[in-house]
Amino acid sequence: MQKAIFIDKDGTLIKDVPYNVDPDLVELVPGCERLRSLQDIGYKLIVVSNQPGLALGYFTEAQLMKAVNRMFQLLAEKEVYPLAFYFCPHAATGTIRPYNHACGCRKPLPGIILRAAEDLGIDPSSSWMIGDIFDDVEAGNRAGCQTILIDNGNETEWRIDQFREPHYVRTNLSEAARMILQKNTYHDLHL
Ligand SMILES: [Mg+2]
Ligand SMILES: [Zn+2]
Repeated sequence: MQKAIFIDKDGTLIKDVPYNVDPDLVELVPGCERLRSLQDIGYKLIVVSNQPGLALGYFTEAQLMKAVNRMFQLLAEKEVYPLAFYFCPHAATGTIRPYNHACGCRKPLPGIILRAAEDLGIDPSSSWMIGDIFDDVEAGNRAGCQTILIDNGNETEWRIDQFREPHYVRTNLSEAARMILQKNTYHDLHL
């Protein structure tokens, strides 16, 4: 079994531009090259994203993938190579078939993480979920991962219950990556 870092896309890995699919507006967050150090110690990087804009008819999968490919290209320039991009296209309030229904893969539900873990042979309990809102934290917690909330101001609704409490809070992705790296180093030193 492999270990992974599940990472939210918008507001965590790239700057948050709501419903954006324009490749020219895709911009990595500062410090994301630190993910390289986690890659180097054996973590698979997996991007997990809610994309209700598909169900709402704001854009198509082909348009979305152009923006995602741009993100992968920018990451590759920093030698960061995510293994996969998983997304939830659904919204119960949407109008576009076949996406217009409730589902188990829209964060805060854990379906997207669990499916990626099953597909890719990943053990959630040795993995992490990093995101900028509590829905990311809850999805990670429900999947059995350790969770980090990036407290960068994107979460506006501080409603915490047993599923929404992050294991750690950090101010940006770089600090989150550093923390995971330190925990692994500590672990190795004390075996
Ligand atoms: Mg986000
Ligand atoms: Zn879904």
